[in-house]
Amino acid sequence: MAAPDSCVKVAVRIRPQLSKEKIEGCHICTSVTPGEPQVLLGKDKAFTYDFVFDLDTWQEQIYTTCVGKLIEGCFEGYNATVLAYGQTGAGKTYTMGTGFDMNISEDEQGIIPRAIGHLFSGIEERKRAAQSQGVAAPEFKVSAQFLELYNEEILDLFDSARDPDARHRKSNIKIHEDASGSIYTTGVTSRLISSQDEVNGEVTSLLDGAQPTTEYETLTAKFHFVDLAGSERLKRTGATGERAKEGISINCGLLALGNVISALGDQSKKVVHVPYRDSKLTRLLQDSLGGNSQTIMIACVSPSDRDFMETLNTLKYANRARNI
Ligand code: ADP
Ligand code: MG
Repeated sequence: MAAPDSCVKVAVRIRPQLSKEKIEGCHICTSVTPGEPQVLLGKDKAFTYDFVFDLDTWQEQIYTTCVGKLIEGCFEGYNATVLAYGQTGAGKTYTMGTGFDMNISEDEQGIIPRAIGHLFSGIEERKRAAQSQGVAAPEFKVSAQFLELYNEEILDLFDSARDPDARHRKSNIKIHEDASGSIYTTGVTSRLISSQDEVNGEVTSLLDGAQPTTEYETLTAKFHFVDLAGSERLKRTGATGERAKEGISINCGLLALGNVISALGDQSKKVVHVPYRDSKLTRLLQDSLGGNSQTIMIACVSPSDRDFMETLNTLKYANRARNI
């Protein structure tokens, strides 16, 4: 099986102006170079990525360009990760589809519901293909976990949906690594899912595609969907007490993620140490970033001039992640 090309890709998505921004007279300070994956900010700042989506891009195009191939890769045993990065209000939740808005139109569905639909139609397709060839249909098992990372603590959101008090208990979730380098958790609710209807959407999702071949080989792949904390908190200073603690641990996760992705991009230049252990986020994603996996980071930005500095910070972070 050919390894997928470059394991970490970076996309930038510029959301449309919100009506509030229009009413308040904000100007658009971003643009995209025609025919090139390049974002221009203001008059003189240009950044190039793997993909760039201007403010009129449909959800479907984001999915097809950035994520579809990753789901296909899961059927061949490749882990995959989709990360949404950016300041609060830049469109991370809209892009990922973690808002669980039941009234949303099909066109507006984000990445997670599309990926789950794709996964189940891929399963049906493979079962039908086996049937038409007269061979035993492969068996598929899909399970999902739904986690929140807060102050370097892991919360099980399936558990807290069942029991709201769970939020206030210290969880006994642990992250482990097996002899082959696979990461697994203990103390987390895993839900078996047999159809798309059972899923409202998961931030972190796990696919076990058990695909028996003649040798009864089993393939397992993990798919992570990550809606990151607002990046404006990355540099918050002067906060005290709980706020400071929160700021520091958000810093820790986002900084560690940037360092890991940039070390992975640098592997040709022989960076030996990839600092996965610096945060829970990177530890959880360890076997889903680099190696046998495909990752896309979608950096979300606002087009409005009032967000210029945060947009610049996001474009820089995403550029460093791409490391070219
Ligand atoms: P974040 O999760 O980064 O804080 P949201 O996804 O909640 O940001 O987006 C902020 C607001 O902008 C929401 O009202 C959302 O519906 C809207 N929005 C974001 N991206 C788009 C888009 N591409 N098209 C239309 N509306 C969008
Ligand atoms: Mg959000």
